[in-house]
Amino acid sequence: MGQINILSPQIANKIAAGEVIERPVSVVKELLENAIDAGADTIDIQLQAGGMRLIQVTDNGSGMTKDDLPLAFERHATSKISDFNDLFALHSFGFRGEALASIATVSQASATSGTAKEEKTWKYTPGANPGEAFEAVAPRQGTQIEVRNLFYNVPARRKFVKSESYEFGQCAELFSVYATAYPQVTFTLSHNNQLVYTTVGRDSVEDRFVYFRSADLQGHLLHLEEVELAPGIFAEAWMSDASVTRNNRKEMTVFVNGRWVKSKEINTIIENAYHTYIPKGRFPSSLLLLTVPPDTLDVNIHPAKTTVKIAHPGLWQSQLEDLVRDVIWKDRVALTYTPAA
Ligand code: ADP
Ligand code: MG
Repeated sequence: MGQINILSPQIANKIAAGEVIERPVSVVKELLENAIDAGADTIDIQLQAGGMRLIQVTDNGSGMTKDDLPLAFERHATSKISDFNDLFALHSFGFRGEALASIATVSQASATSGTAKEEKTWKYTPGANPGEAFEAVAPRQGTQIEVRNLFYNVPARRKFVKSESYEFGQCAELFSVYATAYPQVTFTLSHNNQLVYTTVGRDSVEDRFVYFRSADLQGHLLHLEEVELAPGIFAEAWMSDASVTRNNRKEMTVFVNGRWVKSKEINTIIENAYHTYIPKGRFPSSLLLLTVPPDTLDVNIHPAKTTVKIAHPGLWQSQLEDLVRDVIWKDRVALTYTPAA
């Protein structure tokens, strides 16, 4: 007798789910990205108990047909790529086709969706008894994904989940960052049936930046207008002037091709630009939006897709640093040399 077992699909799925779904905020991220991929311009998020009891994301995007609903929950089922090479011309967040499958493996999930073409809107519950998986509901275009009792069947994961307020804080931070970078989308976030954030009436990056970060940024935001740093490489940034600083990097946010990424390397470019303007150990509040040709960007490094690799950084990094420094410098000069009345 050999010693190698083939794991059952259920066990294999639970293991794979662990790589994508670590805590409530991982679910919120995947569902938010799916809603944006679906072209939604209104996204509502309802959470209960820090997301552990309920995460419900409702969008008015393209929706799914009845036939597609079960497929959406299959592993490696995606409408976003059909060929490996499509990965290098990616214009969507998704491509793995794993999020919904993973989420449904570790929670009680359902999806309600309607498209412009189909008359009926269906609620689909994966894993339900045959004959009970579909329910016709009031027609509306868009999708609502409901995720209840996260990790109810994975006690080991549950142990790593922290307090309700910590988990909610993580979700709220992700929500705020995306809501700021996507001013054309209206977002609302509620927790335990209380509305926490709404972007209604806040339609610019500046408004949302101040609203989500803090009021001390009002009147203290600098703007680097969109520039082409190198062929096909664009940058736009908003950042606090040198009078408003933080004691950590938590408010330094970077998006690459519409995706929020954690990049120490890119943060360093911004920090270097502030060098001599702010004291050591102080950091700006900033939002940098970088756009690079999809074939120079690798997002397939980690399942959570928060790490990216960009080819040829030397081509544009020093130019970006110079441009950001220029914006800070011009603001300082304007303050120092006020023209005599
Ligand atoms: P991926 O985003 O990598 O394709 P997911 O598991 O997140 O994988 O979703 C699987 C598929 O389900 C998507 O490719 C898309 O076709 C569909 N889908 C998921 N969420 C939505 C949504 N909010 N609106 C429309 N379609 C969706
Ligand atoms: Mg997805």
